[in-house]
Amino acid sequence: MTLPKHIIQAAQHAAGAAADGTLGPKTMAALREYDDECDDFDCAEDADRLVVAVAQHAAGLTGADIDGRIGPKTDAAVRAYAEREKLDGAPAAERTRRRGSGMAVWEPHESPGVYEKDDVDLRDPALLVPDGGLSEIPTRRTMMSVYGDAAKLGKAGVQKGLAKLEGLPGRFNRGDGVVHGVHQLAAPHLRLALELCERFGVVDEIYRIGTFNYRHMRHDPKMPLSFHSYGIALDLNPRENFGWVPKGEDKLIEPFSDGWWAKYPRGLSEVAVLCFKKAGYAWGGDWPSFRDPMHFELVR
Ligand SMILES: [Zn+2]
Repeated sequence: MTLPKHIIQAAQHAAGAAADGTLGPKTMAALREYDDECDDFDCAEDADRLVVAVAQHAAGLTGADIDGRIGPKTDAAVRAYAEREKLDGAPAAERTRRRGSGMAVWEPHESPGVYEKDDVDLRDPALLVPDGGLSEIPTRRTMMSVYGDAAKLGKAGVQKGLAKLEGLPGRFNRGDGVVHGVHQLAAPHLRLALELCERFGVVDEIYRIGTFNYRHMRHDPKMPLSFHSYGIALDLNPRENFGWVPKGEDKLIEPFSDGWWAKYPRGLSEVAVLCFKKAGYAWGGDWPSFRDPMHFELVR
């Protein structure tokens, strides 16, 4: 299917990409991110439907109307959106979506450099886990025995076990201290991680927390289901902490080195990462073959 230009432009505009009406890898990455972060639809597997769904969502359609297919209703809504946002030939747009995203108040990689406070030493590898904690999860099989098998449960089955957390410290997402889509058993870990971030003065670094998302790893159907499908993985500030595969000399770039900050000028501070590790999360930034610094998954 060749998509009409105004649909593509609307989707690009909503996702913060340059609204040039051409679908390139940058646009697709931005759209996937939009999809990841948006709870109202999920269609990352089909590129065309993804474009249409993002445009529909941006144009204010809801529920079953976000189906990734172009009909008269979609066309009218997207045209109105494009007109409102003065899209035709418009330069790269300001980001209009996700009210919470403008909430980041930290300076680029400004780290308070405090690693010890109130008996907590962030560099001590011992974990702080809530309620005595859970033991280590060494394999995927053990993980499933704790959290259930997302493939068997299916999307709706996993969703039944998800919790909504309220009263969390920080100003992420909508700024109301609420996170949806976290596995009930994972909920105390996330709360602890954010409380540690608050205690160590880095909670305002986090403006976006992505949680449950029933999908395969790296959106590749040949890969196993992502830990996001279990509600035990988090993506923090995905735009500034994008994943990449290091090749050649880039393999030498270690987290929090000068090379790292050159790549991630607004990346998460080491203190913030350690707060999450303390609460039982493994960090994707530590993975040398696929650096994924937005990603945290529960390993306890
Ligand atoms: Zn992730």
